Amino acid sequence: MNAHFNSPDRRFIPIPTQYQIYDSYTIDPKWQTKFTIIWTSVLAFSFLVSIPYIIRSWRNGRLYSGLAIQETLDPYSIKEPSITRDKLPRQDPRLTQSSFSSRLILGIRAMIQSVSLWTLPMPNLTWWKGQVGDCCRRAYFTLSVSQIVLVLGYMAAVIACFVVGAELTQNSNRPGFIALAQLPVIILLSLKSPLPLPVFLPSLSYEHYNFLHRWTGRTLFITATVHGGMWINQFIKNNEMDQINAEKSRRGILAYALMGMVVIASLKPVRRKCYQLFWIAHVMFFVGFFAAISYHTPYSRPWIYPCVALYAYDLFVRMLRYRIKDATLVPVDDTLTMIHIPDCDAGWLPTQHVMVRVLKGSGVFESHPFTITNAPSTSFSASPRGIILYAKVAGDWTKKIHNLARDIKTIEVGDDDETIEERQKFLEREEKPDDSIDGLQHPGRKVQVMIDGPYGGLKIDLSQYENVLLVGGGSGITFILGAIEECLRVKTTAHNVVCGPSQVDVAWVVRDMSTIQALSPTLLYLHNLAEKLSVSLTYNLYLSNPPNPLPNVPAILPKSTILSPYRPEISQLVRTALLPLSSTRMNNLESAIIQNETSLSEESGSVSGICGNGLAVIACGPEGIVMETKNAIANLSLKDRITCGGIGFHGECYTL
Ligand SMILES: Cc1cc2nc3c(=O)[nH]c(=O)nc-3n(C[C@H](O)[C@H](O)[C@H](O)COP(=O)(O)OP(=O)(O)OC[C@H]3O[C@@H](n4cnc5c(N)ncnc54)[C@H](O)[C@@H]3O)c2cc1C
Repeated sequence: MNAHFNSPDRRFIPIPTQYQIYDSYTIDPKWQTKFTIIWTSVLAFSFLVSIPYIIRSWRNGRLYSGLAIQETLDPYSIKEPSITRDKLPRQDPRLTQSSFSSRLILGIRAMIQSVSLWTLPMPNLTWWKGQVGDCCRRAYFTLSVSQIVLVLGYMAAVIACFVVGAELTQNSNRPGFIALAQLPVIILLSLKSPLPLPVFLPSLSYEHYNFLHRWTGRTLFITATVHGGMWINQFIKNNEMDQINAEKSRRGILAYALMGMVVIASLKPVRRKCYQLFWIAHVMFFVGFFAAISYHTPYSRPWIYPCVALYAYDLFVRMLRYRIKDATLVPVDDTLTMIHIPDCDAGWLPTQHVMVRVLKGSGVFESHPFTITNAPSTSFSASPRGIILYAKVAGDWTKKIHNLARDIKTIEVGDDDETIEERQKFLEREEKPDDSIDGLQHPGRKVQVMIDGPYGGLKIDLSQYENVLLVGGGSGITFILGAIEECLRVKTTAHNVVCGPSQVDVAWVVRDMSTIQALSPTLLYLHNLAEKLSVSLTYNLYLSNPPNPLPNVPAILPKSTILSPYRPEISQLVRTALLPLSSTRMNNLESAIIQNETSLSEESGSVSGICGNGLAVIACGPEGIVMETKNAIANLSLKDRITCGGIGFHGECYTL
């Protein structure tokens, strides 16, 4: 009592809470800290969830396999990754048993998968239908249910932080403070380079969490609108409209306008129709916004420094991964250009992509992403050295490089006798009609390219699955080619054990025959390789714009290839791919029951491979085809999914 009486506080009479003045500059930064704790905790949680994935990827050698392109004077000196039986990436042993617990785990995973994959279809309007391309039946909302939940969660956290305990009508600073606190997370989600720390699940690459970058950016805009709107409301209420002209307000309005420009330039129609405009506007306006906001309030600076550091890190890592290489452009048909970059030996995984800049002509100012369709050459695969990309003509830049490749008057090949002879032969053929200038016999056009990457790629481990269904639409075939290479790669790295997929079904929806013909040699080559590894590889080709009469399957393709004049029902494809699995596993389950609950793992080892079971579904192409595949899996019954041993999914859209 005495001590309290003697304390210095006794000189102050406590002010009742209702009469205390809200000290924005003390209280609001605390909410910035709370907001930062919320999103960093979500990151930390996702890191914890990812630990099993990281360990598995490390054990199967994938974690560091696709970090930077490497080249060597002696390609055969590169050690082929070999996986011993003990290091083999096995499916969780519990899941290969017929026990109740294993089926329970599969069931829980299947339920989570259904919720996370399910995507809402758009209302059936003509305009939207026009957006889906000819591979798909209908348009879908771009975000799946799980992505919507994540976005809403983020928005809820932001709104809670600027509303709780804030007297917005008297002091509108809180949304301004929370807007600043959002900057680091927005920049973090925009980075392309692999981070030393995983962002969300490390199985994701920038193109997978890019949607969050967009939505966090929009949430920032909403927060800034509330901040500005509430201040203007106060000025009007207090009859202080001259405050709008004050230096601080003018800088705030400038920062807001620049942010608005970023939002407008990033809208989907702008991104799709004028990608370069979107990109240039994005960078310019954002830098302008940072300058304006740092003059608007000194409280912004502590939030700008981490953003600059993160962006500098991204640029630095990208610079380390840049390579300038010789490349050959080959026009394989009227709309497809093959880009062969021979001087690369390792450091990528098929299905990853690189940003390509062709250092010739006006295309030099743009870099575009293309998927790597082949695995690094090994003594088994005997595939050519280097990286092979295919670019479908989609707009100006892809058209430019196609024309460059076709420009036979300026064909430049190497100086050696063989290539001079090749050029001579080709130019003699040039006398023939125009259509002979395309095709793989074309000697190609030598250019220099700058490549940045590799990025992204397939993140499910195919050695864990017995069957694989690959669904591709249009130029999405490049990802499918890479995925076939990956199936064969996991099979060869574990060639001394029964592991990896035994059945791979490809469904490719394509507009015209010419692309099928152009890629037939590659499809045949992969089929022959698969046969050597006892993998059954089948091609089902669907023409979305079939000519009448329907042409024959190109003679070069395997006999099992089927050509159909319609778009497939993807749910039907998934069910068909499940059938053999379900019946095999049902037989195994029955025999396990007969043998008094004998472990199924031994049984399935003899029938279907020791390392995995279940079905992996991979879809790539226009958004519609990927969404249809997601929904086909989400709509499967739990029983089907448990019986087949689980389904893995990877979807890739060639649009950002
Ligand atoms: C991860 C990824 C992998 C891809 N892999 C392949 C492939 O293997 N083969 C293939 O033919 N196509 C692939 N694409 C698509 C290819 O990048 C575009 O077709 C190409 O960039 C079009 O450029 P353009 O100037 O000719 O056409 P534009 O008319 O400028 O663009 C056509 C479409 O491509 C998008 N686009 C344009 N530039 C870029 C860019 N720099 N980054 C992302 N999207 C862009 C536009 O938004 C638009 O939707 C891939 C795209 C992505 C995102």
